[in-house]
Amino acid sequence: MMRIDILSAVPRLLDSWLNESILERAQKKGLAEIRVHDLRDHSTDKHRRLDDYAFGGGAGMVMMIEPIDRCITWLKSERSYDEVIYMSPDGELLDQPLANRMSAHRNIIILCGHYKGVDERVREHLITREISIGNYVLSGGEIPAAVLTDALIRLQPGVLNDETSALSDSFQDGLVAPPVYTRPAEYNRWSVPEVLLSGHEARIHAWRHEQSLERTRARRPDMAEGE
Ligand code: SAH
Repeated sequence: MMRIDILSAVPRLLDSWLNESILERAQKKGLAEIRVHDLRDHSTDKHRRLDDYAFGGGAGMVMMIEPIDRCITWLKSERSYDEVIYMSPDGELLDQPLANRMSAHRNIIILCGHYKGVDERVREHLITREISIGNYVLSGGEIPAAVLTDALIRLQPGVLNDETSALSDSFQDGLVAPPVYTRPAEYNRWSVPEVLLSGHEARIHAWRHEQSLERTRARRPDMAEGE
């Protein structure tokens, strides 16, 4: 069972996503627990403010350390955490091997930034790992936190219906996934490769592997070179 606590200034952004599909099922089955915390509940300010002007001037607000520290301290008093993660465009790039490694954790905290980001002292003293979902800048850490959470939850044993399914996804073996087809076998005279209809398991397996290799070379030469 993996537990993920997400700290956010805009928790509503995560509501609908959490209550759908695979994530909802994982939680109902007790395979995962995802809690979203409103940082404003931990503000001591009477206006429940979370941000303030940057020292030294310049445009953009900065998230204050106190509400974040209070929320993390409260969570840590309830249980121990493997990692306290900050989603950040300059963090370590998320990829499948990193998701695989992190999926073994029991409890993690994910902090979502906003505005110009968080007071640097949060990153220095409270955060154990910083993760980026790609080399572009989004306006908040909620979507990045959702991306990371999804990548971790679908790797939990029992979450996907067919347990081998996550293993055959792209990147798991350094290859992208082969093409897949479903009924009808013929549509507008576009037909499904014969081998898939043959029922011959060994031939199907070999065909899929060949397709994976070919596609990896064509689409992701960076992976094919073993980088
Ligand atoms: N001024 C910051 C960007 C702030 S963007 C900088 O230049 O680095 C606001 C918040 O969105 C960040 O605090 C972070 O939590 C989130 N965010 C934006 N892009 C992201 C990315 N590619 N990966 C992870 N988090 C990101």
